[in-house]
Order: sequence, then structure tokens, then C-alpha cells
Amino acid sequence: MNTIDFLNFSGKKALIRVDFNVPLDDKFNITDDNRMVGAVPTIEKILNDGGSVILMSHLGRPKDGPTEKYSLRHLVRHLAILLNRDVQFADDCIGESAISKAKELKSGEVLLLENLRFYKEEEKGDEAFAEKLASLGDVYVNDAFGTAHRAHASTAVIAKFFPAAKYFGYLMAGELANAEKILNHAEKPFTAIMGGAKVSDKILLIEQLLEKVDNLIIGGGMAYTFAKALGGQIGNSLVEEDKLDLALELLKKAKAKNVNLLLPIDSVIADAFAADANTAIAKNDAIPAGWMGLDIGPESVKSFSSVVKSSKTILWNGPMGVFEMKKFEKGTKSVAEAVVEATKSGAFSLIGGGDSAAAVAKFGFENEVSYVSTGGGALLEYMEGKELPGVKAITSGSGPE
Ligand code: AMP
Repeated sequence: MNTIDFLNFSGKKALIRVDFNVPLDDKFNITDDNRMVGAVPTIEKILNDGGSVILMSHLGRPKDGPTEKYSLRHLVRHLAILLNRDVQFADDCIGESAISKAKELKSGEVLLLENLRFYKEEEKGDEAFAEKLASLGDVYVNDAFGTAHRAHASTAVIAKFFPAAKYFGYLMAGELANAEKILNHAEKPFTAIMGGAKVSDKILLIEQLLEKVDNLIIGGGMAYTFAKALGGQIGNSLVEEDKLDLALELLKKAKAKNVNLLLPIDSVIADAFAADANTAIAKNDAIPAGWMGLDIGPESVKSFSSVVKSSKTILWNGPMGVFEMKKFEKGTKSVAEAVVEATKSGAFSLIGGGDSAAAVAKFGFENEVSYVSTGGGALLEYMEGKELPGVKAITSGSGPE
């Protein structure tokens, strides 16, 4: 893999696509700096080599050009603290201010460009825009795994202007190595835990995993589509009526492939989708009318945890219930505890980005699992077997092997 370790950056200006799409509160304070912290090793390697760094990123989803709310200026102070050095800022990602600041950048200096998505050309993958960005640096580095599944100007198109000088940053390389390990070198027993709201978002991944795993645990909202397909009463629980046949199909496939597919036995049910709803425990196929399953119940926790604890490889994507509400967090928390215990006993555990990563962070387990991915959609697509444009752009064509 052509990572930045292949180059000594001394005297080079590295143009790095990072994913600094961090959440900000209404006073523009960063409420979770994980993505910024994730890019620090790449930035430091280049600066320590004697290179300089030009950082480009998107932030949020600005609709109509420059918007104060989405300015990357809000990140400058915190980035300076993380890097322990000054950070310059260009109030445009192309144009005069970016060109002159990039030109004057000296070895050991850092320049952050304004939000790429202030230009519609970014998401359109516009080549002329990519070329303008490319003109700012000597070397292109992609360290933005979170946007690797997008063929945007700064994530993919730009690479063609650096045919022999394009590299993966450490974050990107780590993400790919860990995903690869799960997909192609999983020690058995291999258990996948799937949860979250909808089965329709994860059909391709489930089908792909059925080829590889020994155990497939299905929890969260998506489990009720399976329960209903099997003839159960699910009350007002989340269901995708048009996916009932598909659910049966997946169950059949699992059986044919000798995959142990586990569905919840019971649920924590509620009389409303609310933090203060009345709750009870019910079997998954006997949820009374007017009630809905919002978490897996104690018997499910027991069955899921015992399988997780005896696994050697674990992939987790999607919470077991509405973990954002205290009354419905126990299933997700208990499964997380089982993953932590398995990891302590030597299992490799990868937590998919998005809500699973948020859940693990909420319970304070992020350092007790093997790897927490920073990419939600990107990781899903990679695991589904799709080629990510941000990855292909670096690996294809000429360049170091
Ligand atoms: P996803 O983005 O598909 O991974 O879904 C994550 C969301 O699913 C979280 O916000 C959970 O609150 C929600 N969720 C999990 N279990 C349930 C459930 N039983 N009913 C409704 N929503 C759920």
C-alpha cells in the first residue's frame, strides 16, 4: 500500500485531504474532536520530515456558498493546540489568498484552507476545480476515510494531477488494513453483530457477511422485520413491510451456509417512542398491540453475549436498541461489554462508524475494543465489496507500489 512512509517529505508541500467534519455547538466549540485527532500522526510525520502541510476538508453541508456556521476557521485554534504549533488559515480553498499563502509556506508550517464545499464543484467532482486545488501542493495525501466512498474533487479527481506523488495517510491506511483483516483474514469463530433501524440499509452487507461469518447476530429495529416475517406479533415496532420476503430469504441463506443466525428472543417494549414511556419485557413474537420494541430484552442479551464472548473476530455495526434513551440503552451496553470482554481474551473487534461508534463512546469503551472506524458509509461500502473512489484514486495508475 502506498502510504506516506514511502516518502521523505523534506522540502515538499503536502496537500492533505483530511476529514475535519466535526460537530460544533452553537458557539462553534468542537464537541467531538476524534476526526481531528485521527489526522495528527499523518500531519506530524510530514512536518517532522521537514515538509509543510496544506490541509483541506469539508465541514457540514453548506447549501449556498460561504456560510459562517460552516467555516473551518472555527477549527484553527483547536488544531494549533493539537499540533502544538501555529496554524495559518486561508479564507478560500482556491483563489488568490490560498495561492499566496500556499506559496509562502515554509518547512514545518501548517495552512488550513476554507471549507471545500463552499464550492458546488467539490461534490460534483469538477476537474478544473480539482486542478486549482492540486496547484497548491507538490504531493497529494488522502487521509479522509470518512469520505472515501465519494468521487469528489478533493477525494478522488485531484489524484490524477499527482500521478507519481499520491499517498495514503496513516488514518486511511489503518482503516483499510483493519477492514481488510476482517474481510479476508478473520480468525474463527467470526461473529458479526448487526443492528440499527433498517434492514434495507444493510442488505448487501448482510449478504456479503453470510459468506464469511460463523455467527450473525441481528438486533435493533431491523430485527422486528424478521420477527414479523416469521409470523410473530410485533405491535407497533419498526417494520419494513416490503422486506418481509427478503428477511425469510436471508434466514434461508444463513441456514444453507451453515451460519448461526441469532435473532432476539425478547424485547424491552414501550407504550411510546419516548424517554419517559412505560416499559415492560415481552417475547419478540408476542408484543402487544400499541407497544413497540425499543431494545433487546434480558434473554437476548444473555444469548448474544455468550456467542460474542466465545468469538475470535467481531464486527459490530448498529446499536441493539434506541441507546440514546436511558431506558433503552441496556441491550447495546451489555453487548458492548461482551465485546470488551472478548477483546480482553484476545479477540479482534472492529466497531463500524456512525451510531455504533457513538454508542461505544457513550459507554466509554472506545479504548477497550481493537479498532473504532471513523467511516460510517465508507466502511459499509468497503465491506460490501465496493471499490471506494478515494482508494482507487491512489492505487490506480502510476505511483509507488
Ligand atoms: P442505523 O443508522 O441504521 O445504524 O440506525 C441507528 C438508529 O437506530 C439509532 O439512532 C437507534 O436509536 C435506532 N434504533 C435501534 N433500535 C431501534 C428500535 N428497536 N426501534 C427504533 N429505532 C431503533
